[in-house]
Amino acid sequence: MELIVRGSTERVRANNIICLARTYAKHAHELGHTVPTDPVVFLKPNSALVPSGAAIVIPHCSEKVHHEIELAVVVGKGGRRITTENALGHVLGYAIILDITARDVQAKLKKEGLPWALGKGWDTFAPISAITPAAEVPDPHNLQLTLRVSGEVRQKANTREMMLSIPEMIAFVSDFMTLQRGDILATGTPEGVGPLVAGDRTLAEIEGLGVLENYVSCDT
Ligand code: MG
Repeated sequence: MELIVRGSTERVRANNIICLARTYAKHAHELGHTVPTDPVVFLKPNSALVPSGAAIVIPHCSEKVHHEIELAVVVGKGGRRITTENALGHVLGYAIILDITARDVQAKLKKEGLPWALGKGWDTFAPISAITPAAEVPDPHNLQLTLRVSGEVRQKANTREMMLSIPEMIAFVSDFMTLQRGDILATGTPEGVGPLVAGDRTLAEIEGLGVLENYVSCDT
């Protein structure tokens, strides 16, 4: 998918989606986890991306699909073993992403010690907004996030509650994989994750980054 850059005709081809988990203490606790020393990392296929306005499709295998609002960091300049000091120079901009999760499938996989791909990687499981250029986001560590489902506030937090800074995340990830232009780091979700059902409308907002609106339908 080509990502739109707000206020510009530039388009950025989305590459890998690298997701961090348990980066907000209250969310780790709500799922019954302790807070890890290093972040939990998993990958989502970029075929899961959809733009604002598109459907989130509940797959036939799941009866418990959850929303997770997250700040997305989009990589402009790639690199390997990027230092925390240089990390923000590699950021093209920021976006709103939903890390949609088939929680029942994921829970079963977790219990069996298996990878999470079938709980996280379905088509439409990564709605993403347009990118706001980094220069227009003075402090990505102090942004209000709000997710409403059919008008009801479900998740409300601030990126200052993240236990790792964005430079620390970039340094951690680029230590094991080369980051490339168009890579998307999903920085983890705060507390308040919950179910989506067919007919729901999601409205995700992150301060300064605009909105991401989607609707939920069922796989038929
Ligand atoms: Mg997540």
